[in-house]
Amino acid sequence: TEAHIEAVEGAGALNAFVHPTFDLARAQAEAADERIRRGDAPDMCGLPIGVKDLFCTKDVASQAGSKILDGFRPAYESTVTDKLFTSGAVMLGKLNMDEFAMGSSNETSTYGDAVNPWRAGNSDAALTPGGSSGGSAAAVAARTCLAALGTDTGGSIRQPAAFTGIVGIKPTYGRVSRWGIVAFASSLDQAGPMTRSVQDAAIMLRAMSGHDPKDSTSADLEVPDFEALAQQDIAGKVIGIPREYRMDGMPEEIEALWQQGIDMLRDAGAETRDISLPHTKYALPAYYVIAPAEASSNLARYDGVRFGYRAKLDQGDGVTEMYEKTRAEGFGHEVQRRVMIGTYVLSAGFYDAYYNRARKVRALIKKDFDEVFAEGVDAILTPATPSAAFELGAMADADPIQMYLNDVFTVTVNLAGLPGVAVPAGLDRRGLPLGLQLIGKPWAEGELLATARALE
Ligand code: GLN
Repeated sequence: TEAHIEAVEGAGALNAFVHPTFDLARAQAEAADERIRRGDAPDMCGLPIGVKDLFCTKDVASQAGSKILDGFRPAYESTVTDKLFTSGAVMLGKLNMDEFAMGSSNETSTYGDAVNPWRAGNSDAALTPGGSSGGSAAAVAARTCLAALGTDTGGSIRQPAAFTGIVGIKPTYGRVSRWGIVAFASSLDQAGPMTRSVQDAAIMLRAMSGHDPKDSTSADLEVPDFEALAQQDIAGKVIGIPREYRMDGMPEEIEALWQQGIDMLRDAGAETRDISLPHTKYALPAYYVIAPAEASSNLARYDGVRFGYRAKLDQGDGVTEMYEKTRAEGFGHEVQRRVMIGTYVLSAGFYDAYYNRARKVRALIKKDFDEVFAEGVDAILTPATPSAAFELGAMADADPIQMYLNDVFTVTVNLAGLPGVAVPAGLDRRGLPLGLQLIGKPWAEGELLATARALE
């Protein structure tokens, strides 16, 4: 823990840890030492981790990367952090993220950009660690913590993992409790581990999983020993290669990486098969209707009364002015854009044209996956992202849709509720990490991690 605290202090330029909790970490580490002395050391005992700012942590600032939660210190602990602490984990602090987890570059954060520890070739230009779990990815990649918690609504664990050369898994929807995690899009959000290896991800995922009566969408299922399952042989497994993911204009090095992944899985004894997921092209538009719709509803609670920030009011201002001013000052532009899109697609006149249609598309996307799994496919291999990490600021003047295109390979997985893992798979020609994604059957995280190990 002391060595990691030093590492965090030495890596301030990455702007990954935004609320360090070193006193808490030292107390937790001492308690872990004591448990180890007593011979009662659970899986996460004494392991220093970082926690995305989206998790409510008791008496510790929990702002979801937003000004509107300035000063908010929850009186409760999220189920996931509670489980990790019960398993002996040590929290070094809270990690930077895009505001309310909306973004793919960590540039919408109220704390400023998190920075990727990697550089391209001889260039000094600062790169994005990806988003929205950018601080989590940067912290793990820079070796300032052994692992970090992220959340993934449309790719926010997998894309930053790919951009920083680490492993990140989004579990099956319902595997992990959402209780105490600031809600973005409740039907898509899942928390997951971001780690240096597949084995670490397996260990941490087991410690954080399980049924929680406080989250009605958490599944009442036994949590398997993911670490043991991840050791299994993958000989004879069928890996689907979906043709719709071969996008027009896909960079050659992404194609080459994908082919290399196919070869590695074949070398490990798996069979690969061309498959079709015909509704893939509608996933991104459906996601960018459903996610903002749910967000507009979830974010209605930030009203200047119950949490965090309240705008300064003028003489004569009433409650309406308080809401308006607080939300205008407290939310950043991307969050405001999502609230407006969400409110629009849910409004009486447009509900059927947008929200209901997006829900139908979502069902078709899920059916595509169900069909290939029913035909004997065990897992699906795709690139994790359409490119390596880009420069911070590069998209500042771009149309927001350019940023949304980062999620093209990842959002289908959230819409279908499936587990997906990003694994570091190579470097691009400038020496930047690239990731591959494996998509699994519902509740088959163990099997998925075993397949992921063949790519390590
Ligand atoms: N980049 C996507 C978005 O902005 C995904 C975010 C996420 O997974 N939290 O919505």
